[in-house]
Order: sequence, then C-alpha cells, then structure tokens
Amino acid sequence: MPNNPFQNYLENLERAKIALGLSDAEIEKLKSPQNIIQSDLKIETSNGMETFPAYRVQFNNARGPFKGGIRFHPGADLDEVKALAALMAVKCAVVGIPLGGAKGGVTIDPKKYNASDLEKIARGWARAMSSHIGVDKDIPAPDVYTNGQTMSHILDEYESIVGHCEPGVITGKPLELGGSLGRNIATAQGGIYVLKALIGDLGLDKSTMRVAVQGFGNAGYTAASILHKEGFKIVAVSDSSGGVSAPAGLDPEEINKFKEEAGKGIKEFAKDGMNMITNAELLLTDCDILIPAALDNQITSENAGNIKAKIILELANGPTTPEADEILFKNGVTLVPDVLANAGGVTVSYFEWVQNRSGDMWDEGQVLAKLQDVIVKSYRSVYALAKEKGVDLRLGAFSLGIKRIMDAMRLRGRI
Ligand code: NAD
Repeated sequence: MPNNPFQNYLENLERAKIALGLSDAEIEKLKSPQNIIQSDLKIETSNGMETFPAYRVQFNNARGPFKGGIRFHPGADLDEVKALAALMAVKCAVVGIPLGGAKGGVTIDPKKYNASDLEKIARGWARAMSSHIGVDKDIPAPDVYTNGQTMSHILDEYESIVGHCEPGVITGKPLELGGSLGRNIATAQGGIYVLKALIGDLGLDKSTMRVAVQGFGNAGYTAASILHKEGFKIVAVSDSSGGVSAPAGLDPEEINKFKEEAGKGIKEFAKDGMNMITNAELLLTDCDILIPAALDNQITSENAGNIKAKIILELANGPTTPEADEILFKNGVTLVPDVLANAGGVTVSYFEWVQNRSGDMWDEGQVLAKLQDVIVKSYRSVYALAKEKGVDLRLGAFSLGIKRIMDAMRLRGRI
C-alpha cells in the first residue's frame, strides 16, 4: 500500500515543528488547506458524455497569491493535490518568492483522449475554477501531462469569462501569449544549478559522474539533455512504459527523437549494449546521481536501502517517503528535496508573472541569470542550516520554508 502523499507532508511538517521549537497550536493552520474547490466536469468527449473529478486546493496565501500547477492524471485525487499544494507553499517560501501554494488536478488518463477532448477538459476546468483564480488571487501553471497548449486554452476560456486580457492569471504559457523565455527548461536548469553547487561542496568530480533519470517529460528529458551536453554520462532513462540502461552512456536527444518519431515508449529503444529495465530497476541503477522526475512515492522503505546513487535530485514532487529519507540519510546519500530541487519551475513562473504585470520582456540570459542567483542562494541557506543542525537537506529546506510562512502568518495575525 503506497504512502498517502499528504501524510508524508504532515510527517515532514512535524519534523520541522520540532526542529524550529514550535507548538502544535502554532502549526495547526499548516495542517490543512485554506480552501478546497472540487467540481465534476461534465464533458462531451469523443467517447460520449463523461464526468471528470476536478480539483483546486489553495493551501496557504500568507506570503502572496496562491500558485501551483494543474495535473491531468488518473492518480490525481484530493490527497495528492492537497500534498502538492502544501509543497508549493513551502517551495515558494524556500526560494523566497512572494507567492503562496496551490495545486490543481483532473482525474483522467489523458493518453486516451484526443486534442479536441483535452481542450474541452481544459476549458471545463477554467469554467469551474474561474471565480477562484486571478492574477492577484491564484495563478495556475502546467504539471504532469499538461503543457503550454493546456495553459493557452485555460487562459482563453478565463479571459472570455472575465471580459478582459489577464495574461498573468496563468504561467507556463507559450511565448506568443506572454510566456517567459527560459520557462521550458527552468525546472531542470534550476535543479542542475543546485546539483553543480552541491557537487562542488562535496568535492566531487563531475566529469566521472553517471546519472539515471526516471521520467522523460519536461523535467526529466530536459535534465538528461542539459547534463549530457555538460559532460555527465546518462546511464539510464525511463518513461511510463519502462526504460533502458547502458553503462557506456545514452544520448537523450536520440531517445527523444525515437519517442517523437516512432511514437513508442523508451523501453522499445533498447538495442545492442543496452538493457530494457523497469521503473523499479531504474531506481537501483549503478550510478552516482539519481533523478526522480516522474511521480510521487517512488523511493520507499522497501527500495531505499538498495539505492546505489550518492546524490538524489528530486525533480519530481514527493518521490521519496519520510521512512526512505531516514534510510538514505543514514546511508550517507545526499538528497536534494523537491521543495528546492524543482523550485526553478515556479521561480521562472514568478518571473513570467512579473513580466506580464509590468509589460516587460526579459531575454533568456537575464531569466537564467536571475534563476541561478535565486536558487543557488536558497541552496546555500538550506545547506548551511542542515549542516549546522546535522540534519538532511529536506529538514533544512522545510525548516527554512515553514519558518518564513509562519513569520508571514504571525505578521497578518493569523496565528
Ligand atoms: P511531463 O508530463 O512532462 O512528464 C512526465 C513523465 O513521467 C513522462 O515521461 C511520463 O512517461 C513519465 N511517467 C508517468 N508515469 C510514470 C511512471 N509510473 N513511472 C515512470 N515514469 C512515468 O511532466 P513533468 O512536468 O516533467 O513533471 C514530472 C515531475 O516533475 C512531476 O512530479 C511534477 O510535479 C514535477 N515538476 C514539474 C515541473 C515543471 O515545470 N514541469 C515543476 C516542478 C515539479
């Protein structure tokens, strides 16, 4: 039975409470979301009339408007969306951007629907949530199996309801609709800035490092591609179908081309010198750096002890359970937690929102320089705090993020 992702968040919150010396009463308001919006989307798809459960969980807005992606996935349910919304609040606080935390979801297997069905579902979500979102209220963005096209449909539907242009209501938009340069690579690139700073702090030599990546979407493929170009050896990658490993190294561009042209899963790419592997096997690959970049609850008490990587960079949200964290820390594995490792996405989403509000446009160099500055500074604070207290980086990051949210809540008189 997989861990409940919201329970995982509560356990991490409890650890931060103890580390910060807070009382139960003080953290009570961080144990549940401020608002939960649920709706059943009734949509005429190519299969006939169907109903899809849809969610928006607005966790906390003490530090600024609610912010967080929308996921289209069969496993998206209230507990998952609540957990992801809470992580967004902590993440925005860890990187010090003036936003709160939210998340949205639709329970659907998007692979079973055509583009026109997916457009109707995106527009249905926007109609159901239109009175709850807004440029100063709640700003959605893409997540698993949603993308710039999904954001464009939501923006268009929302603007037709409110009757004016409001590009800052949503981020992760295509450039033509007010998106930001650098947003496509921001999550992976932010994680890589942190990874390289960590490799420096640990005194390791990047030129010999082998990397395994689980998930080959926006976060996973982009990370594999950038790291490959920077000279890291990519020894295993996977998608929902399974994966391939190759001790001699893989070229992510070649695999991406294969996926696009053949329309097949990564495991079908296996040829001489490569092994077809399952997603469970990918996590145990003989490598130096493991990058979970797919779904939550992948690294658990059952497999954590067998992980060979010395560094884990969590580009996915919630891939590691608290029990697994403990095992990894004892085994000397350095884990960069989601609330820091993948915060590049929301940081550049924040830059997109700032540009939309000011009417300004920054070039990619400016965006990436600002991202590097924000995320490496945050990493340095988290690393120093964790070192000082002798704890793992997740507790360091949670302590920093929760303290900042609590400070804002105190100033507002909410606690
Ligand atoms: P995506 O939809 O672009 O890609 C998801 C990838 O995961 C696909 O390759 C898919 O095949 C794979 N996948 C799905 N189910 C899987 C399974 N059971 N096992 C292995 N692989 C599986 O999504 P994304 O935007 O890359 O998001 C991936 C993770 O990164 C999620 O946890 C998401 O919350 C997190 N994240 C993404 C961003 C972002 O900006 N895209 C920002 C922060 C966090």
